Amino acid sequence: MKVRTRFAPSPTGSLHIGGARTAIFNWLFARHFVGEFILRIEDTDRSRSTEESIREIIDAMSWLGLDWDEGPYRQSERIAIYQEHAQKLIENEKAYRCYCTAEEIEERRKEAQKQGRIYRYEGTCRKLRSHPENKPYAIRLMTPDWGSIEVKDLKRGTIIFDAKEIDDFIIQKTDGFPTYNFAVVVDDAEMKISHIIRGDDHLPNTPKQVLIYRALSYEVPKIVHVSTILGSDKTKLSKRHGATAVLAYRENGYLPEALVNYLARLGWSYGDQEIFTKGELVEKFTLENVGKSPAVFNQEKLNWLNAWYIRNKPVREIAELVIPLLQDRGFQARLDSKLIKIVENLRERAKTLLDIANSADYFFTDEIKLDDKAKNRFLTVESLPIFGKLIDKLSKLDEFSIEKLQGIFEEIIDESGLKLVNVAQPARVALTGGTVSPGIFEVMEILGKDKVLVRLKRAVSEIT
Ligand code: GLU
Repeated sequence: MKVRTRFAPSPTGSLHIGGARTAIFNWLFARHFVGEFILRIEDTDRSRSTEESIREIIDAMSWLGLDWDEGPYRQSERIAIYQEHAQKLIENEKAYRCYCTAEEIEERRKEAQKQGRIYRYEGTCRKLRSHPENKPYAIRLMTPDWGSIEVKDLKRGTIIFDAKEIDDFIIQKTDGFPTYNFAVVVDDAEMKISHIIRGDDHLPNTPKQVLIYRALSYEVPKIVHVSTILGSDKTKLSKRHGATAVLAYRENGYLPEALVNYLARLGWSYGDQEIFTKGELVEKFTLENVGKSPAVFNQEKLNWLNAWYIRNKPVREIAELVIPLLQDRGFQARLDSKLIKIVENLRERAKTLLDIANSADYFFTDEIKLDDKAKNRFLTVESLPIFGKLIDKLSKLDEFSIEKLQGIFEEIIDESGLKLVNVAQPARVALTGGTVSPGIFEVMEILGKDKVLVRLKRAVSEIT
């Protein structure tokens, strides 16, 4: 049997971290077995689904590099298929038309509540002999009143549900649209999905879906419910814990490789290994190593991975990603050897692409921001002789290379008896505006002689 998995988001908002992890597991599983991965948009809840969410989900999937072999299908375009299946169930006396109105049901629900009972539809329309004409109806599945329903979960084993707990639930609403449980089963069966991998928040739906499979005489696919992702305080991950939308991570300067690597390892383990190429993930991913207990989202670890990918991806690719960010900040950046050098140096301490863009200003503008503290500490009368020597020696230097610059600093140290830091820090503040930057010689080489001298002289005028 061919492995076919699917990701089936409801487009009622953007793609979140939890959904993305489910998508990644399905994608990895399909790719591991050289199967197929299907994208299906479950947009039958017309009041909550939006086109914008669909666009965002597709954008996020593409950004993460989770390519699909079929789809995106849209359930709203498949209504006739669900209706056909519901009709067939009526003909086979496995489902029936229900004319009870929402108000009637609500009244009965309230009554049950008053008596301290959980309301379950009592089957009023189950045995109707005649059908009222022109009255809107829903369609309900005829469910067993006794016995048990077995849900076989590849990870959790067999979970038994009591059939009495499940009433004759609606499979098609009065507006002709299917309910979630019905559409999902018809689609998973029609699309020949072999494995369903989804969040354990769906576990309560699964027995209902098993009943629908039975009624339609379809085989139940293999099912795995993966545990939810928790925030650092062990409650369900939500906005309170920080960014949860996948595209917010793109905005915040994360690399898709890092996010995929991080989410794949969240709830799936492979010894102590943390860094995986996509190829390795595909090769090594199995459901056996997916854990049963909830995984806790760890922002620090994601940052660590992101920093790793930023340092280890080809520098040219990082530079290309940084260009638009620099342009947003009003800098004229383009892909040239200078930019490559800047990125090569700045990425060493960057956790995100934004960190690179936010620390690059002094390479692009002469209007550098002088940090007050740095200025008070290093642009002092005591530094004047150092600046004097630097300006004098650097003006005579033809080749502004790292080696030559290093030579000049060594000369000054020898002559003055100062330590490197005493020379480098005032120079750094003069050139970059602050006390933290890549190596001073690298910075000077990138800036070039003219800019270096202008900035050193400006520092002198700041002091005097
Ligand atoms: N559409 C459902 C959701 O977004 C998922 C359905 C499923 O995976 O079975 O939660």
